[in-house]
Amino acid sequence: MSEKQPLIQVKHLKQYFDINMGFGKAKPLKAVDDISFDIMEGETLGLVGESGCGKTTAGRSILHLYKPTSGEVIFNGKPIKTKKDIAELRTKATMVFQDPYSSLDPRMTVMDIIAEPLDINVAYNAAYKDKEKRRERVLQLMDYVGLNSEHAARYAHEFSGGQRQRVGIARALAVNPDFIVCDEPVSALDVSIQAQVINMFADLKEKIGLTYLFIAHDLLVVRHISDRIAVMYLGHMVELASAKDIYDRPLHPYSKALISAVPVPDPKVAKANKRIALTGEIPSPLNAPKGCPFNTRCPYATDQCRETMPEFREIEKGRFVACHRAEELNS
Ligand code: SF4
Repeated sequence: MSEKQPLIQVKHLKQYFDINMGFGKAKPLKAVDDISFDIMEGETLGLVGESGCGKTTAGRSILHLYKPTSGEVIFNGKPIKTKKDIAELRTKATMVFQDPYSSLDPRMTVMDIIAEPLDINVAYNAAYKDKEKRRERVLQLMDYVGLNSEHAARYAHEFSGGQRQRVGIARALAVNPDFIVCDEPVSALDVSIQAQVINMFADLKEKIGLTYLFIAHDLLVVRHISDRIAVMYLGHMVELASAKDIYDRPLHPYSKALISAVPVPDPKVAKANKRIALTGEIPSPLNAPKGCPFNTRCPYATDQCRETMPEFREIEKGRFVACHRAEELNS
């Protein structure tokens, strides 16, 4: 049996934004600071971390919605370098946005919103110039996401949040992508419909053969859908492992604190699990601490942690951690 290949390879990706500090001075905000990982074909990689850790910026930089400051993104074996590469990437990799209320144009019908990627993408607009073909494709996409075809002539404001997100997902599927970055796709939805939308993502993955980068701050949501999970902190990746390993035995002190805060339905298990409270605020990426980015909040920080950045290294097969003391703290 042939081994699965990486569909996405991210190598030393950095995304800095220059922030005007006044008096003509600028300082780099290091939103993403040297992250490397692969996403295998057909895999769902969950990307988690507190708000402001750089996970959304990472997703956008991978798709080249932001031009990376440095580093490399390789899609299906091909480095994304030129405008032509980016145009090709747009036909194979799309994004589902967080807020279904602001990401859909209120002046367009659902038919036109879903068809827009076909209308503007040169690889598709000739094939779907024929109105009937275009309509058929939109109705097929609406069917994939569980929307009634009679709704095609309606406007986004006539729908609930869950239905709007389904429109956004149908739009992301229009160009028949291999890879979708899902940026907090259920966090703006009622809890009652989050599960439906998550299940739909899982069904679509099976049906169409998709690969996802699934960004979320809700660890329960990510656990449900992910094969592996990456944890980010202050622009850095601090742990990467299978979803089971991250939940059952997190190795990085920050992952441990995040997992310990996940609500457990069984009161006995909840009582037995000790919550690790993080003290202090997440530092600003404009003034990141020297050494390990987590050292200002880590109960195990040493002088070495305050001086030297830990390497993101494989400490067990398939388990990557950026912590000087990972072995010692988990023996
Ligand atoms: Fe904590 Fe040091 Fe490990 Fe960073 S390197 S997580 S400060 S023990």
